Amino acid sequence: THFGFKQVAKEEKVQMVRSVFDSVAGKYDIMNDLMSFGIHRIWKRIAVQLSNVRSGESVLDLAGGTGDLTMLFEKRVGKKGQVVLADINAEMLRNGRDRLIDHGIIGNIRFAQVNAECLPFEDNSFDCVCIGFGLRNVTDKDAALRSMYRVLKPGGRVIVLEFSHPTDKLTEKVYDFYSFNLMPKIGKFVAKDEESYRYLAESIRMHPKQDELKKMMENAGLERCEYFNLSQGIVAVHRGYKI
Ligand code: SAM
Repeated sequence: THFGFKQVAKEEKVQMVRSVFDSVAGKYDIMNDLMSFGIHRIWKRIAVQLSNVRSGESVLDLAGGTGDLTMLFEKRVGKKGQVVLADINAEMLRNGRDRLIDHGIIGNIRFAQVNAECLPFEDNSFDCVCIGFGLRNVTDKDAALRSMYRVLKPGGRVIVLEFSHPTDKLTEKVYDFYSFNLMPKIGKFVAKDEESYRYLAESIRMHPKQDELKKMMENAGLERCEYFNLSQGIVAVHRGYKI
């Protein structure tokens, strides 16, 4: 296409995702604030609200990285609940653990290095499984959604917070310019890493559209699936239930 997407082999993608997150781990939080003008904090708060998670519940924060969503969930579940911060990347997980400890969040948090495609948890374990800005990076998304469904308790819900596709032409134009021209330059200047942010922009374009992801969730067994566009579709929250 005119964006120069490469069709990469599965092994190559796994390796690429690993090196991207190894490379950005230390600068991850500041880059998020910079690139999204701080708006990612609002997207995350909305996703957690849409989860309807309540006191005493158990939550799996998949691809949880440095733990932004875990912190928000922790407030909701309280000391009687539990949040598992899970990520495939040891470096991101280490940063997340240190950060949570620095915030004094201990006791009701567990950490797990896992691949979303084959979760090592028992069936029917969690009231909520959330994956925030993570599904895009997963190679076999259908396997990940099936795995998320399996570990969900009946009555539980899956929340997918992810970059998506702008709902109007103007937003699309501005956003294309921003992400293909400005973002890699900011990445180069601040994180000394242009390539990772080029990957970010491309991976967002390749990610399934809102309705397609909704179908994929239904195919994985989830019911009452719906999505909420945020910031004109730049981001979407998908929600589905295990009945
Ligand atoms: N959820 C956090 C947030 O919103 O700030 C972190 C999102 S970060 C953009 C994506 C994370 O997905 C990285 O930490 C990466 O290591 C993780 N990841 C990539 N592929 C994964 C997989 N197959 N299973 C679990 N985590 C994965």
